[in-house]
Amino acid sequence: MDRGTAPAAVVVGGGIGGLATALALQRVGWQVTVRERRDALDRGGAGLVLWPNAMRCLAELGIAEAVRSRSTPLTGSVIRRADGRVLSRVTVDARAVGARPLGIVRADLVEALASALGPEVLRLGDPVTAVAAEPAADLLVGADGVRSVVRTSISPDAQPGFRGYTVWRALVPGGADALGGEAELSETWGAGMRFGMVPAGPDATYVYAAATTAQGARSDDELAEVRRRYADWHPPIADVLSRVEPGSVLRHDIFDLPPGRTRLHNGRRVLVGDAAHAMEPNLGQGAGLAIEDAVVLAHALSTRPSIEDALTDYAAARAPRVTALARQSRQIGRFARLERRGAIGIRDLAMRAIPDRLARRAVGAAADWCPPLIAPPIAPPTHQET
Ligand SMILES: Cc1cc2nc3c(=O)[nH]c(=O)nc-3n(C[C@H](O)[C@H](O)[C@H](O)COP(=O)(O)OP(=O)(O)OC[C@H]3O[C@@H](n4cnc5c(N)ncnc54)[C@H](O)[C@@H]3O)c2cc1C
Repeated sequence: MDRGTAPAAVVVGGGIGGLATALALQRVGWQVTVRERRDALDRGGAGLVLWPNAMRCLAELGIAEAVRSRSTPLTGSVIRRADGRVLSRVTVDARAVGARPLGIVRADLVEALASALGPEVLRLGDPVTAVAAEPAADLLVGADGVRSVVRTSISPDAQPGFRGYTVWRALVPGGADALGGEAELSETWGAGMRFGMVPAGPDATYVYAAATTAQGARSDDELAEVRRRYADWHPPIADVLSRVEPGSVLRHDIFDLPPGRTRLHNGRRVLVGDAAHAMEPNLGQGAGLAIEDAVVLAHALSTRPSIEDALTDYAAARAPRVTALARQSRQIGRFARLERRGAIGIRDLAMRAIPDRLARRAVGAAADWCPPLIAPPIAPPTHQET
């Protein structure tokens, strides 16, 4: 690619995918503008799990330590029945610090990305309402989420669909201590319902609850609704829910894009993150994959001779992985939301029979991925007058 003048990109959307892409492009010498429709970056969303694949990418972006310092390294994950009996447990080698997933407050990740970028890159309160046939910049990146406007100009047939359940999310004050000192990702599976708890940094625990519901169903008091639904589940669920601040519960119906059916680029337009591959949240990898997209895109743009070639490479590299994980996430969703007593009994038996080694391999398949290395361009020599 001609490096005479820095090429320019417009990134539509200032979520995790857009901010990570802007940072990655900056690191390979691009000028970037992020157009975000909201007046402020979205610092909601409660918490997140970041798996080692995402952390390797954040290392490429130069912010792994900033993120790690605000997060809790998790010792593994456990799945229980509603009565507390353990169905499956995966532990991570305590010495392998880089192999641990991290729990983090979502706002802390957004903060780490945004402060590395600098305010001059962000244009807040600047929605993109339509995509011109010819982008004004060298590259237009659609990082505008599951209802992407940019996607309509690249892959108009790809439409998100409701997956049959809703998720409530909240933060509870107190880190791992609030869960009895266990720094584990804990999920509990009942009939058509799930509950999760993740220590997320020194001061917070991230909790989430999923249940089969009709699309758009809402309650006047979502916290009361969650407390009622999970009241007789094992400790410390009721206790943890008693510490959620009223009014702080988020509720979202879950939508995804049909796996493998979204075109990822067209001309000089490209999609990243949920705009490209919104998936069910069951693997806890959506944000991680958005961050991967950012690094792979920057690598392709810094190594291929033309932008068009780079976007073709990017799409070829990303499509198989995001399609496979979106399918896997759907499968887990179906498995976790079984409602019939007989089917649940067989599921629970099967989970208890799976050796830890196999369970670890299933989790590791997504988390073992390594990004290509992106290097900041070498600064031209400065000629000082003597
Ligand atoms: C319940 C739940 C739990 C999850 N847990 C995890 C987890 O543990 N780990 C993980 O890795 N992932 C998780 N995810 C997935 C993760 O949240 C998403 O994949 C990720 O946030 C997607 O980021 P994004 O930037 O692509 O999209 P978004 O976060 O949707 O950001 C899109 C941005 O674009 C802006 N925008 C939209 N339209 C326009 C427009 N026309 N003009 C300008 N701006 C626009 C929006 O305002 C927004 O700021 C979870 C998701 C859910 C729903």
